[in-house]
Amino acid sequence: MVSSECVPYVKVGGLADVVGTLPKYLKKQGHDVRIILPKYRIIDGVKYNLKILPYRLTVKVGKEQESFRIKTCFLDDNIPVYFIENMRYFNRLGIYGDDSGIGYGDNRERYIFFSKAAIEAVKAIMFRPDVIHCHDWHTGLIPAYLKTTHADDGFFWNTSTIYTIHNISYQGSFEAPTTLPMAGFSWEDYKSDKLEFYNTFNFMKAGLAYADIISTVSPTYAKEIQGVAGNGMEVVLQTRKKDVFGILNGVDYSYWNPENDNNLIANYSASNVENKKLCKKYLQGKCDFAIDEKTFVIGCVSRFDEQKGFDLIIDAIKKIQHLNIQIVILGSGNTTIRDGLLYLKHLYPQKVSVWTNYNEPLSHQIYAGADAFLMPSKFEPCGLSQIISLAYGTIPIVNKTGGLADTISNFSKDNTSGNGVVFDLYKGEQFVDSIINAYNLYQNKLLWNKLMNNAFLSNYSWDKSIKQYENMYNTAVEKRTAYTIYQIQK
Ligand code: ADP
Repeated sequence: MVSSECVPYVKVGGLADVVGTLPKYLKKQGHDVRIILPKYRIIDGVKYNLKILPYRLTVKVGKEQESFRIKTCFLDDNIPVYFIENMRYFNRLGIYGDDSGIGYGDNRERYIFFSKAAIEAVKAIMFRPDVIHCHDWHTGLIPAYLKTTHADDGFFWNTSTIYTIHNISYQGSFEAPTTLPMAGFSWEDYKSDKLEFYNTFNFMKAGLAYADIISTVSPTYAKEIQGVAGNGMEVVLQTRKKDVFGILNGVDYSYWNPENDNNLIANYSASNVENKKLCKKYLQGKCDFAIDEKTFVIGCVSRFDEQKGFDLIIDAIKKIQHLNIQIVILGSGNTTIRDGLLYLKHLYPQKVSVWTNYNEPLSHQIYAGADAFLMPSKFEPCGLSQIISLAYGTIPIVNKTGGLADTISNFSKDNTSGNGVVFDLYKGEQFVDSIINAYNLYQNKLLWNKLMNNAFLSNYSWDKSIKQYENMYNTAVEKRTAYTIYQIQK
């Protein structure tokens, strides 16, 4: 796995959860999995007991020779993790950018460097993988390098590549005339069926064009991105339709479990839900809200990003002030969204609490202490937060899109099926109606308990998805073998 994020070392969003968990399940199936990450400053070498390997390697970024070291440790005591350490690119406070939410100006160089360094690291440690699984645009160049600059490198002749789209709106698109030489590709590779993408050099396009297999994180999103949600990539994806897999992410229930979560004031489970009330009290206290069991507490933990539906959330908060509700929001990112939310907190201090940082313990306390969870995303590749909410018996209110559509079904009063409240048109009215709908359900303890029980019973564990991943890896290996035979014959 080559990725820019991985729990527990570095996390910005769901990508980190996937890369930190999937390998554990593959390992359980007997596979030899290893992870390559950038050594960001935030990754604590002492805490993770990082050991330095005896290599001093270099790769070229443009005309510059960039040197790097490899540090290593084990995830879960048995999965080797290799960190690419380079002071210039990764020894800074942020991951993708600074606090203002604006990305670093040299992200292009940073991930060209990382992709090249990852390839060299694999060779240095003498680990010849069957599959290099690349995640998101930061690693999109790796499949392209293996089929162009490294096409004659026998070390990789039996190595397939998979490129996984975790979010199609982050593509890494840059101007071609400077990026091509900086990345070390030739103009020959800059064709519409290869690196070129509407007159730009696009890292995601590189991954999509060259990887043996493409995947994304839910079946519905896999379909959506071949159409209106493709962000320009729909045609590329349609051309590769046969190679596109949509596999739902799982969550790590050993970590996201209210029964043994030590971030909570009290633990609870589906069969002993009484203590959830204590978690609610605790959250209300923490937010300076009136402590009242009857008040409907709505939580939200999210990146502040347009994708997540904050235009609807900000509007809806004003429209539901007549209800007996309290809303607690935790997030970071876009400063306009942040300021809009902080203004609401200022207007309604007794009903709205906004926390604007990355705060892992508080996120757990919100999942546990809230009654319902807001996730009205415009689009959602998979989404983990709604699945985590289910595990904490907290009812997700979601838009029917992507992975939300695959994991949450609308509760029916008639036959009491369904694990959440779903609206199916991205409109303010629909969203407000769905919150009111959830609010009304909450007033009926019998129905609400049934709904909570349905949430607890929902199971999106990796055990289910892992079989599909193995099937995908096998397909990738078969494809690569066919490609190698073709190369040799040529
Ligand atoms: P995305 O990957 O698009 O950000 P997901 O729902 O897939 O969305 O994953 C989001 C993950 O990040 C969840 O585990 C959520 O709890 C976590 N998260 C998001 N923002 C914060 C924050 N400010 N503090 C703590 N955890 C957060």
